[in-house]
Amino acid sequence: MTSVTTAASALLGVYARVGPTFVAGEGVELIAEDGARYLDFTAGIAVNALGYGHPVIRDAVTRALDSGLVHVSNLYHTEPGEQLAAELVSRSFADQVFFCNSGAEANEGAFKFARKWSGKTGIVAFSGSFHGRLFASLAATDRPDYRRPFAPLVPGIQIIPNGDRAAADRAISAAETAAVIIEPVQGEGGVQPLAAEWLAYLRTLCDERGAALIFDEVQCGLGRTGSLFAYEQTGVTPDILTLAKPLAGGLPMGAVLLTDTIADALGPGDHATTFGGGPLVASVALEVVRTIAEPGFLAGVQTSGTRLEAGLRAIAARSRKISEVRGRGLMWGVACTEAVAPLVGAARERRLLILSAGPTVLRILPPLVITGDEIDRGLAILAEVLV
Ligand code: PLP
Repeated sequence: MTSVTTAASALLGVYARVGPTFVAGEGVELIAEDGARYLDFTAGIAVNALGYGHPVIRDAVTRALDSGLVHVSNLYHTEPGEQLAAELVSRSFADQVFFCNSGAEANEGAFKFARKWSGKTGIVAFSGSFHGRLFASLAATDRPDYRRPFAPLVPGIQIIPNGDRAAADRAISAAETAAVIIEPVQGEGGVQPLAAEWLAYLRTLCDERGAALIFDEVQCGLGRTGSLFAYEQTGVTPDILTLAKPLAGGLPMGAVLLTDTIADALGPGDHATTFGGGPLVASVALEVVRTIAEPGFLAGVQTSGTRLEAGLRAIAARSRKISEVRGRGLMWGVACTEAVAPLVGAARERRLLILSAGPTVLRILPPLVITGDEIDRGLAILAEVLV
């Protein structure tokens, strides 16, 4: 049989794929076609919160398939989406929910909702941000290399220095700003937990100037930082919150959570997406959210996070390659004094999958179900690579 890895690929070459072809997954391990097992500290880039083959996901998918309803148009009522929206509302600041299919799509929806509600068009985002690769979400994403080939992007969106109060005071305007978008813990931008005081300042400016505060929790939300939503740890409540990655256990799904105040500005026809919140994805997401929201589950994330943090700090104390360790829960960045691409490769050769977040930061996002022993195994490999 020809190996998939060596055969010419008909897939568009927009990804720099590396390593083996994976054919199965179990727990926190991915299994390659030669049977080799890789410890996955990437969780599909913060998607596979429950790891691989989790019974909650298997059962939810099976039950949904048994109902025969994979998709029903949003022209009609179905139960799973209603239940999931109610679940998210009951566990958050939000009053209403819109479902879509990805993180970028959730942010695009959030921008539209803020514009319709405010009657204004401006959007303010921050250095280090990543909000997606569609035309408006890319315009709010601080990655010049990703943006340049596709200009002009959506106008009216500006990126200002993160943490700069004077710049925010100048940019957020009562006349023009519809929304301010920020990740409470920046992911792609190098894993940067933002100060609660800074988020509170933005909250105040948004209130003063009639702009919606959007928290992008696509990467840091749904248990990743040790609370169901990252904003809960900041004491600052947004008007709109976007979710995606782990929401439906690996099936594509995004969500925009919003207050009645914003939602009241929206009516039939203002926004839509064919697949959004279909019965299969919503059934699975309902079980994923319920599982993650269990106090015992979140306590487990906190305990695992503390163990991972301690291990990373111990490695940092012995390594000249590390300048800083930062993060929350099971979302960690290891800032390095050298390019991290070779370190990611060296870890992979030792069968540990890790990510980068920019050229000099290693990013660690294991499944939230990881055990203490698995954390220690990964840390031992990281020590080999970093010390
Ligand atoms: N927002 C954040 C914070 C992200 O990390 C990402 C993806 O990495 C996105 C939005 C875009 O999500 P998607 O790739 O599902 O469009």
